[in-house]
Amino acid sequence: MNGPVLLLNANYEPIHVCSTKRAVGLLLMNKAELLLNGRGVIRTPSTTLARPSVIRLSYMVHPPRPRIKLTKREILRRDSYTCQYCGQRTTHLTVDHVRPRHLGGTHWWDNLVAACPACNHRKGGRTLAEAHMWLMHQPREPQATVFYLFGGYLSENQEWRAFIAGW
Ligand SMILES: [Zn+2]
Repeated sequence: MNGPVLLLNANYEPIHVCSTKRAVGLLLMNKAELLLNGRGVIRTPSTTLARPSVIRLSYMVHPPRPRIKLTKREILRRDSYTCQYCGQRTTHLTVDHVRPRHLGGTHWWDNLVAACPACNHRKGGRTLAEAHMWLMHQPREPQATVFYLFGGYLSENQEWRAFIAGW
C-alpha cells in the first residue's frame, strides 16, 4: 500500500506523489478519479479495488509551487552527477563552494557545484582564477518544474511519462 501514486490536479497537472493508501482513500471518498490502474487489484474482505497508478482530483487545488531543497543530493542531481570542472560522471562526487567560504562565498545554489574529489582537491581553498579552473555551467537554483519534481520516478514508473510530459 506504500507504492507511489501520481496525483494530478483537476486540470491534469501533476502536483504530488502520494501513497497507494492515500490514493485509495481519495478514490473511496469520491475526491479523485482513477486514470490509470495497471497494477492489479487490492482485495479487502468486502470488495475488490483497482490498484491505482495515476489519479486525478475532482476539484482544483492551488498548491504553492515548491522550491527545491538545497541538499547535496539535489546539487548532484542538478549537475547530472557530473563534475563541473572536468566533466567526469561518477558516483563519488563532492560539493564544492566555487568561491570558498573563507573568502565570503555563500552556501547557495549559485555558489555550489558537483566536483569529483580530484578536482575539489586540486582547487583547494582557492578561487577559480587562482586555481586556473573553469566551470562547465553557471550554477543556478533549479526551477521546480513538473519534470524536475517527478522525472526521478519515471525509471520505476514508465507509465507516468504521458502524464508528466508537456507540463
Ligand atoms: Zn573533476
